Amino acid sequence: MLQDSFGRVATDLRVSLTDRCNLRCSYCMPPEGLEWLPNPELLTADEIVRLVTIGVERLGITEVRYTGGEPLLRRELVDIVTRTTALGPTPQVSLTTNGIGLSRLAASLAAAGLHRVNVSLDTLDRETFKKLAHRDRLADVLAGLEAAHASGLRPVKVNAVLMRGINDHEAVPLLRYCLEREYELRFIEQMPLDAQHGWRRENMITADEILVRLQAAFDLTDADPVERGSAPAELFLVEGGPARVGVIGSVTRPFCGACDRVRLTADGQIRNCLFATDESDLRSAMRSGASDDEIVERWRSAVRIKKAGHGIDDPTFLQPSRPMSAIGG
Ligand code: SAM
Repeated sequence: MLQDSFGRVATDLRVSLTDRCNLRCSYCMPPEGLEWLPNPELLTADEIVRLVTIGVERLGITEVRYTGGEPLLRRELVDIVTRTTALGPTPQVSLTTNGIGLSRLAASLAAAGLHRVNVSLDTLDRETFKKLAHRDRLADVLAGLEAAHASGLRPVKVNAVLMRGINDHEAVPLLRYCLEREYELRFIEQMPLDAQHGWRRENMITADEILVRLQAAFDLTDADPVERGSAPAELFLVEGGPARVGVIGSVTRPFCGACDRVRLTADGQIRNCLFATDESDLRSAMRSGASDDEIVERWRSAVRIKKAGHGIDDPTFLQPSRPMSAIGG
């Protein structure tokens, strides 16, 4: 087991397959992009699968989510998913993507055994998309969503970040769009994880504000709180259900006490929290010949020292030096 000193057990592994992305969402990256990790520093597909196998077979990982950067940019993605879903015991395998290219890949991913997909969609307006993501790709994202649904991946979840003065008027239209297509929408509070350090608390659209906007148009009732478990989203039934909407108050309603996540960066570092300032280097260990037992021990030690909370509210809070795209969202 991967247990920390507060008794929390990490069972949900987030694996970043690349730090590269084909969008430049302003809450994540500057318009000019970032200096990408050099290729030799990235884990190979075999190294990723070796670590995921150790996680699943030796350390109690039951969920594996591939993310990035943009995971669809990783050419070996379908192969990595195939090899992950073949593990025993089979973990739940999911993908977080911006959806660009998903129209081409959704069927192969579903055939490879992918269980679920989350697609990021912050706006339905082409001009707003261009302003927010610095690329004219809204149509590709919407086509990717449709293909995921058509391939039978369920539920198709949508992640949206609202930004004041940019897309915060779209809470209701986004929910309508998702309800009409059986996508499950989750709003995520904007976190201080952008490379440009442009996050300002006063610009963040809080979970409370999101709910006020949604409640002006829809009847929302608390879905069973027991069901929430370690899931970050507070779920609400829309118009009595069964459709649901989620709100992830990462900043104003932190859920660190129930956190069951651990992250593996594209260059093979274990991070016990999105906001951790330390990492544990499994890539160097692997490349210098570490045995599976040694990797298990390093990984356990990295999780053991997880802090009680992300500390965004602490006056001494320091934004991690790596942006979200490099950590794996
Ligand atoms: N490229 C993929 C995507 O767009 O979903 C996967 C990586 S992205 C970093 C994963 C998720 O993190 C996306 O839903 C994105 O909206 C979210 N995200 C990125 N930066 C964020 C921030 N500063 N605050 C909250 N969510 C953020």
